[in-house]
Amino acid sequence: MTLPGPFLPGAPDADGLPAMLGVMGGGQLGRMFVHAAQALGYRSAVLDADADSPAGRVSHLHVRSGYQDAAGLAEMARHCVAVTTEFENVPAPALRRLAESCPVAPAADAVEICQQRAAEKRHFARSAIPCAPFAVIEAEADLAGVDAGLLPGILKTAQLGYDGKGQVAVTTMADLAPAWAALGRTACVLEKRLALQRELSVIVARGRDGAWVHLPVQQNLHRDGILAVTQVPAPDIDAALARQAVAHAGALAASMDYVGVLCVEFFVLEDGSLVANEMAPRPHNSGHYSIDACDVSQFGLQVRCLAGLPLVAPRQHSAAVMLNLLGDLWFGPGATAPGVPDWAAVLALPGTHLHLYGKAEPRVGRKMGHLTVTAADAAGARRVARQAAALLGLPAF
Ligand code: ADP
Ligand code: MG
Repeated sequence: MTLPGPFLPGAPDADGLPAMLGVMGGGQLGRMFVHAAQALGYRSAVLDADADSPAGRVSHLHVRSGYQDAAGLAEMARHCVAVTTEFENVPAPALRRLAESCPVAPAADAVEICQQRAAEKRHFARSAIPCAPFAVIEAEADLAGVDAGLLPGILKTAQLGYDGKGQVAVTTMADLAPAWAALGRTACVLEKRLALQRELSVIVARGRDGAWVHLPVQQNLHRDGILAVTQVPAPDIDAALARQAVAHAGALAASMDYVGVLCVEFFVLEDGSLVANEMAPRPHNSGHYSIDACDVSQFGLQVRCLAGLPLVAPRQHSAAVMLNLLGDLWFGPGATAPGVPDWAAVLALPGTHLHLYGKAEPRVGRKMGHLTVTAADAAGARRVARQAAALLGLPAF
């Protein structure tokens, strides 16, 4: 079903209750979507099999089923005026099936492109946006045909990779076969390893009428393949480069006829050129600062897109630095049992906004929350964020 609407906040649905917006996936992105939907007076539904999911815990309705479960999808369709996704690996057929009885945005076709690296690269080419040189590996025979110019490179699974998982560094042609075996001989993309000057991301929100708005360009630092620090504004970024990144993100959304929030990750190469890395068909970890630093957050934009409400250009009112808080922080040096980090010390610093996702069990590498530091200017935000990082034992940035 296409999106009718708008579904006005507070307008009663068929049961006489405030309209319910649904989200596929119960992780932290779903939780923050639910918070934003509820702030506007909507009810929320979350589909996730996990009884203890971060979003399910705070939602009016938690449908505990797998993504492909017909009964679960029918329950979402019965209760929700429209459904979005917080998890890019919701199987596209499940979204397609749901869309037969309920408006879904973004559409399965767009999500399908974003969840398959080879399809994503084809979409970059179709949209005339540069990306890293690559080869698709689908069978043993493809290995021998690899252009040695792609090495050293990174072999990435075409599907289901995240936070640097499903990636193996490849230096020589002899490394290729073992790397492919280590990834389970599944469909992969081999990408040339590029020398990065910095990493950026851009979040756009596009409505069903094709109008789109964007958040400011974000600069991201990854550690071990996981986002560690986002700074906005991006330090000393060239204005023309920033405009180009925004234009690329808007073009990529338009060429998928995308409705919803889309994040595009970019690399800035050492020669200053911009290449697209990957897209996420949903809000993104690098956009979390927008909750505290912008007058509309990425989750507010997601609600507006889904409900068909007007999209107005977000304004960043404070400079921001976001630190990701991984489960590692609960395990100090030599710790035998997890201990809660000293949040009181961090919250004593000016402009600190702590967001924990309600996950009971801290684990190394698990995203437990984030800390956004806001300040009047970028130098001030960086100064306090560095103090917070030092208090938490995080590496300097
Ligand atoms: P994920 O889906 O896990 O986020 P990415 O493709 O974004 O996977 O890779 C994670 C990180 O690894 C990137 O943010 C970047 O730091 C690094 N990386 C990935 N591809 C390349 C590349 N071709 N050249 C250099 N660094 C890369
Ligand atoms: Mg990435």
